[in-house]
Amino acid sequence: MEVGNKMEMAENIPCNSVVGGNFKEVCLEKVIRFKPPLYKQRYQFVRDLVDRHEPKKVADLGCGDTKLLKLLKIYPCIQLLVGVDINEEKLHSNGHRLSPYLGEFVKPRDLDLTVTLYHGSVVERDSRLLGFDLITCIELIEHLDSDDLARFPDVVFGYLSPAMIVISTPNAEFNPLFPTVTLRDADHKFEWSRMEFQTCKVFMCDLLCSERTRRAEHLGNSRGVKKLQYSVLFSALQVYTTSYPSLQQEKVLKFVLVGELLIQVDRLRLRHQRMLREQEKDQGPKPGDTDSCPAPHLLLGAVFTEAEKARIESSPKPFCEGEKFYIPLQRLLTYPKLHRLCADEDRMRSLIAGSVCLSSDGSAVVVDLHNSWDYGPEDN
Ligand code: SAH
Repeated sequence: MEVGNKMEMAENIPCNSVVGGNFKEVCLEKVIRFKPPLYKQRYQFVRDLVDRHEPKKVADLGCGDTKLLKLLKIYPCIQLLVGVDINEEKLHSNGHRLSPYLGEFVKPRDLDLTVTLYHGSVVERDSRLLGFDLITCIELIEHLDSDDLARFPDVVFGYLSPAMIVISTPNAEFNPLFPTVTLRDADHKFEWSRMEFQTCKVFMCDLLCSERTRRAEHLGNSRGVKKLQYSVLFSALQVYTTSYPSLQQEKVLKFVLVGELLIQVDRLRLRHQRMLREQEKDQGPKPGDTDSCPAPHLLLGAVFTEAEKARIESSPKPFCEGEKFYIPLQRLLTYPKLHRLCADEDRMRSLIAGSVCLSSDGSAVVVDLHNSWDYGPEDN
C-alpha cells in the first residue's frame, strides 16, 4: 500500500481574500498553491507505479469523471481497465472519453484492452473485481460515511485483495493554509492527519496480510491443485464497456499486415522499375543500391541497422517474369515492420491470401510490374 501524502509540495504565494466585501490582507505564509496541481501529482504517482510494475488488470474505485482511466488506457501492459463509481450520471456523461480514437484502429495496440465502467458502491463485494494487479482509490475514502468506511477495508483489502493498492486522501494538516476551509469539499465526511491515516493504514495492511496468508495456506493445503473458490457476486451494474482493436485480433492483424506489406511491395516495385531504367541507359545499378539501402525519397524514413540489412540481403530476391513482379514471402518477412507483425511464412501466407495475389506455389506476392492498382487476387 502506498501513502499518497508524500507528494504534497507547496509554494507560498501572496493573496487577498474578500471578507464582508472588504479586502483583507492574508498572511503570506498562509496561502499555498500546489505545483503541479495536486490532482496531477496523484495521477502521476499512479502512472509511475504502472510504469514500474506493468499491471495487467487495473481498477479505479470512485473513478468520478474517469480522468485517471483515460490516462491509464494508453499503457500497453494494461489489458483490463475498470472504473467503479456510485454516481451514475458521472459515468454516463464521461464513458465516451474511453472509446478508441480513429488512430487506434489504424495503429492498433499489441495487446487487447477492455475498458468497463460499473455503477455501484465500492463497499459492496463484486466478484468481477477479484484478481486485479492494481486498485486505486484516489480521493475516495473521505467521501464514505462511517458505516461505509468501516466496511471498506474488509471489501477492498480482505475480499478483493489486489496485488497493489493506492489510496490517497487529503492531508488535513495542510488545511490551516487554505483561506476559509474546514473541510476541502462539501461531500467530505472527514479529513485525516498523517497520523490518523497511518493508523488506518496499519489496520488495512494487517487485513491484507492475513488474507494473503489465508490464501497461501489454502493453496499449500490443496498442493496448488485447487483454487480458492469465490461465489459469483455482481453488486454493480455495468454501464459502459468498450474493446480496443489489437494485433491479438486476427482481423486487425490482417488489416495492418496487408497495409504494411503493400507499402513494402510498392517500394520494391519502384526500385525495380528504376533499376530497369538504369540498365536500359546501360548504367547498371549503382554499387550498394539495394532494397535495404534505398534512395531516401523511396523509403520515407525507413532506416535499417547493419544486422537488418544483412538479413534482408541474404533472403531470396524479388524477380520479374514478363510483366509480373514476384516478391518472395521470405524476403518480405525480413523487413522489421512486417517481421514484428508476423514472423512465420505459413502464417503470413494464410493472413494475406485473400487480399493479395500469390504465386501458384504460394511462396511469393505477385503484382504487375507497371500497374499499381492490381493487388487483389481477383484481378489476376
Ligand atoms: N477519483 C476521482 C474522483 C474523486 S471524488 C478523482 O481523482 O478525480 C470521489 C468519487 O467517489 C466521486 O465520484 C463519488 O461519486 C465517488 N464515491 C463516493 N462514494 C462512493 C462509493 N460508496 N462507491 C463508489 N464511488 C463512490
